[in-house]
Parts: sequence; C-alpha cells; structure tokens
Amino acid sequence: MDILAVIKNLLSTPKHIVITVHARPDADALGAALGLAAFLRQQKHTVSVISPTPYPNFLSWLPGTDGVIVYDQARPGPVLRSIQQADIIFCVDFSLLQRLHALGEIVDKAQAIKVVIDHHLDKVNFTDLVLCSSHAAAAAELVYELIKALVDENTRLDKEIATCLYTGIMTDTSSFKNPNTTPQTHRITADLMEFGVDVPKIHRLMYDNNTLNRLQFISFAIAERLVVLPQYHTAYFAIRAADTQRFKLVMGDTEGLVNYTLSMRGIILGTLMSEKAEAIRLSLRSIGDFPVDVMARTHFGGGGHKNAAGGSSALSLEATVAKFEGCVSASKEALAKNYKVHGI
Ligand code: 5GP
Ligand code: MN
Repeated sequence: MDILAVIKNLLSTPKHIVITVHARPDADALGAALGLAAFLRQQKHTVSVISPTPYPNFLSWLPGTDGVIVYDQARPGPVLRSIQQADIIFCVDFSLLQRLHALGEIVDKAQAIKVVIDHHLDKVNFTDLVLCSSHAAAAAELVYELIKALVDENTRLDKEIATCLYTGIMTDTSSFKNPNTTPQTHRITADLMEFGVDVPKIHRLMYDNNTLNRLQFISFAIAERLVVLPQYHTAYFAIRAADTQRFKLVMGDTEGLVNYTLSMRGIILGTLMSEKAEAIRLSLRSIGDFPVDVMARTHFGGGGHKNAAGGSSALSLEATVAKFEGCVSASKEALAKNYKVHGI
C-alpha cells in the first residue's frame, strides 16, 4: 500500500493525534503542522501540536499558535499526557529524531504509530512510515497533497488552513525564488489563494515586521561582523553572544541574516555562525550545486537541503570559524567549479 493509502486508512476513524515539529521551528514547520492540525480537527480527530522548544515570536500570528504546547523539561506533564494518549504522531519538517532534542527520546519510546512528513535530504532514522520528498519545496506542500488525497475534489479548505500552508511554502521558497520552486509549487499556492489567503499581509507579517533594534543589529553585523573570502566565493557572519545582548535580540532576530552573504556579487557560499548559550549554531546557504547539507552533516552534526542547511558546534566561536574556514579551503575546487557555472 502506498503511504497516502496507509495514512487514509489510519485516519478512517477518530484518533488521538500528536503533531511535532523540529526544535526552533520555522514558518514551514509550524505552518505545515498547524495547517494539518486544523484540518484533522475538522475531521473529528483530537489533535495536539507540540514543539520541542519555544518558537520565534514573529510566528505567533499564525492561526492556531495559541494551542501549541511547548515542551518544558521542568513541567513535562501536558506533553507526556498527549503523547501517552496518542494513536498517531506526525513528525513534520524533519527526519532525524535528534532534531526533537530532549523530546526525541519520549517520541521514540511512545507506542503511537509515527509518520514523518518531510522534504529534507536527511534519512529518516526512527520509523518506516514516511511521506517524504526532497523535491517538495516545503513540508507544507506535502501536507497540502496529503489533505487533497484525504478529501473529495470539491472540498474547500478554510482560510486558516490555507494561510498556514501558504506561509510555509512562501518562506521555504524565499518567496518563490529558490530553485525548489516548481510549477506544482505555483499550482498549489494558486489553489491556496482561492481560499482567501491574504498574500500581501502575510508578506508584511513575515518580512516587514522588524523592530528598530533588529534593523540596527543587521546594519552592525554587516559593518562589523561580515567576513568575505573572495578566493573561495564565500562570506560569513560570526556573531557573538555579546552582540545579541547589545541589540537586545530575541529568538528569530538573526533569521534571514545569512541571506545577505548570497546577495553579494561573486558569493555562492554563505554562513552565519552565532554564539548561543548551548553551542554555536550554523546556518549555511549556497547557490547552484554546492551541497551545504553535506558540509553540515559531515562537519557540524546537522543536515538540511542542498542549498540551505544547519548544524552546530561545541567549539568556541573562534575555533568554529577556523574549522569552517578549513572546510571552505578544502572545498576550493568544488567552489571554483560551481562558481564558473552558477556565479555572476
Ligand atoms: P536554518 O539555517 O534556517 O536554521 O536551516 C536551514 C535548513 O537546514 C532548514 O531546512 C532546517 O530545517 C535545516 N537544519 C537547520 N539546522 C539543522 C540541524 O541541526 N540538523 C539538520 N538535520 N537540519 C537542520
Ligand atoms: Mn521546511
């Protein structure tokens, strides 16, 4: 049986369902999870959405966030209860159990049937039930296709579901400009617009919603913390914890900063290294065929997509920068080749 038929079968009677997302969920993880949750509730299932960590405040406008349970190791009761009762756990926008942090062990031990819905290149390491395609632009695209497979063709989606899914697709494609944007992506978002999605408003909420602090931080980071390695067509930011304190940054305020690297002529590999309490977080981006997921997986315990990946480092910021520069220098030929084909 194909996976859509298996899921359809599982959902043929009312179920207790948990939907989880990866740590520090982005708009695709949260949008796909909330869209799926709203749909499943309409279908008379009992649904909890659980995030392993808090999510950035700039996503709190997404319909349904008020019901999201954030896992708190000091008060695990609500999460443990939902997971114990669950018949099915959907894991949305990730394939590796470790992306759930401490929640991973709880999900792993749960009796529920686990279904992964994902579009990363990472290999699922905890269940055989996978609705995964690395060709999908976003997890929200896969949720859309799942919903379509579960309803008859005349069923209309409501505006909330459409808004959540549209936001996931819009952000994971960087507003339909990344190479993951396909004709099918546009067909899906065109269909979602039929259900009343307010596109200009979503755009403003996601991209024109800065605080003055954040704008001043970006200006500081570009002036003081951006390093360009022209011989490798690479640029990176190294942000200290003291920088984030100085500009009173909140979670999510560094999101998008890495993209400034690729906005520079001649650059096809860009990285943000950011000093957090627990570790150095890395965000990697590339243009063309240079696979940053491989670099993230091989050297920084992470993974992701060919052109957008993340990872972390337990070293100091200085040592992480040195390690990254070492990786870049070892990739000189691949970067030069890729620049020849895809650079401008
Ligand atoms: P970002 O740089 O925006 O945090 O993440 C870029 C992409 O890489 C996203 O698709 C994200 O899900 C993925 N990613 C980020 N951090 C990690 C990580 O630690 N492990 C894996 N496997 N993927 C990650
Ligand atoms: Mn995604």
